[in-house]
Amino acid sequence: MTVNILPNNNPSGQTLRGIAASGGIAIGPAFQFRRADLRFDRRQVEDSGAEWMRFQNAVETARAQLAEVALQTEHDLGTDAAAIFQAQMLMLEDPELLTRVRAALEEQGVNAEAALSDASSLYVHMLEAVHNEYLRARAADVRDVTSRLLCILLDISPCRDVLPSVPSVILAHDLMPSDILSLNRSRVLGLCTAEGGATSHVALLARALGLPAVVGIGPGVLQIPSGTTVVLDGGAGLLIVDPDPQTLSLYRARAGLRAGAERRPAASADGPAVTRDGHRVVVAANVGTLEEARLAREVGADGIGLLRTEFLYLGRHALPGEEEQYHSYRAILELFGDRPVVLRTLDVGGDKPLPGLELPPERNPALGLRAIRLSLTRPEIFRPQLRAALRASAGHNLKVMFPMVTTVAEIRAARALLEECRAELQAEGQPVADVAVGIMVEVPSAALMADHLAAEVDFFSIGTNDLSQYVMAADRTHAAVAPLADALHPAVLRLVRDVIAAAHARGKWVSLCGELAGDPAAIPVLLGLGLDEFSMNPTAIPQAKRVICSLTREEADQVARAALQQESAEAVRALIR
Ligand code: PEP
Ligand code: MG
Repeated sequence: MTVNILPNNNPSGQTLRGIAASGGIAIGPAFQFRRADLRFDRRQVEDSGAEWMRFQNAVETARAQLAEVALQTEHDLGTDAAAIFQAQMLMLEDPELLTRVRAALEEQGVNAEAALSDASSLYVHMLEAVHNEYLRARAADVRDVTSRLLCILLDISPCRDVLPSVPSVILAHDLMPSDILSLNRSRVLGLCTAEGGATSHVALLARALGLPAVVGIGPGVLQIPSGTTVVLDGGAGLLIVDPDPQTLSLYRARAGLRAGAERRPAASADGPAVTRDGHRVVVAANVGTLEEARLAREVGADGIGLLRTEFLYLGRHALPGEEEQYHSYRAILELFGDRPVVLRTLDVGGDKPLPGLELPPERNPALGLRAIRLSLTRPEIFRPQLRAALRASAGHNLKVMFPMVTTVAEIRAARALLEECRAELQAEGQPVADVAVGIMVEVPSAALMADHLAAEVDFFSIGTNDLSQYVMAADRTHAAVAPLADALHPAVLRLVRDVIAAAHARGKWVSLCGELAGDPAAIPVLLGLGLDEFSMNPTAIPQAKRVICSLTREEADQVARAALQQESAEAVRALIR
């Protein structure tokens, strides 16, 4: 069993790593699962024959219950899952168990509950002592059957008072098959256990139920108070406790993506986004993983407008090296053939902490050592990423983009390093494609200096998520002020207009990859402002293409002109409505 607690710079929580048992992402309150209290009085009994009869009646009831559970499970989840309960029925006839119970009753003269509990503990102990995964799983079955029998003998309901009242991520020492079935599915978002292996029944049932699950995560999971917000990443085997807002929103985006993919697998928009008067724009995807890139491809993305490479680094002890990054980038590029893929270099630090990277706490994280500022001070991290990106570019349409650029000097320094890496690779005889270079425009100084910056790059991508928080001086992660950072505020829209104009004056391409790009209400405004590319959450792509195809350039121009004249974001929204 692997039990690790990753080093974490995030004071608000920690990341526990276990065994990935069933894929998917669950976000919600934790719920510490405690089994119904099965304590009983150990009594001496006169008539051990009557006690044996009582035990045998309990066995008959358990057999009937299990037969029903097996039938229902076969119907709901298939034969593999049902086999767990069929095996438990056979266990009720297991001579090893029955002989031990009878011996305890007759030799010690105790009641049936005590005899069963003693016999079962010995049996479980024996099975667990053998280093054999199959026998260990059998031990879990013996415990499960024992609990069922005790519930019957004590006449209590196994799930009384132990179910969550709101949808929750269930945390437990271990879960038995019948626990999982009795946990009301609608209130279970995911499962995470201290014990267990990838082949345990928890894993099998979780997969059958489509629930994310992580097992074998260690006893630390039992210290997390119920109600604490957690993110369970079943595919990566991670439990993130009380995540910071950035991690939470990244995972929400991923979870939304999965849900969207499940809800509308057929929604695809392979055709180009062309206005009614024949003006074509690009509709690309924001992705963080290969899985999201696949989804983007399926829904008809024209390319990837933002590859958030920091996703590759999340939940890691150590940062991935050049080789691993090369393979990750290459896999995504291959998916997109010759369509453009914009790789954004590491956007961490400040309010985007990264396990595996020791960074001093920041007094004002949003204004701190983050993104390109951090990369430029840490060439041992930056260089391998640039080399991996350049190597992956061969034969594909890769573009490199730097985040949080604030000054002309930064882009020059970053480009110089990129060129050094290119020269190195060429000297090593490695093929490297011509790679376009761009920047995120997400800091007011960059927007205001766009004419100068445009001379240094091939393209801009406007990051309205950050740009609006800096323009409006409103922390996008602070619930009380975040609504102020509305990207449809005319103050932000005026900057977007100026950035597009400055880039176009130099013949440069402008994309926008903040959330605004996928907002159907904002699309006419952005189209009217002359945007060349909209990059968004993949699930938003089909609708965005439909909105664009329904408009003419002239209609969009009118909306944009009017929006720029409004006095507030609310007024812009009212206008669009
Ligand atoms: C943005 O700031 O608009 C953006 C797309 O970057 P991120 O949300 O990753 O900071
Ligand atoms: Mg940003």
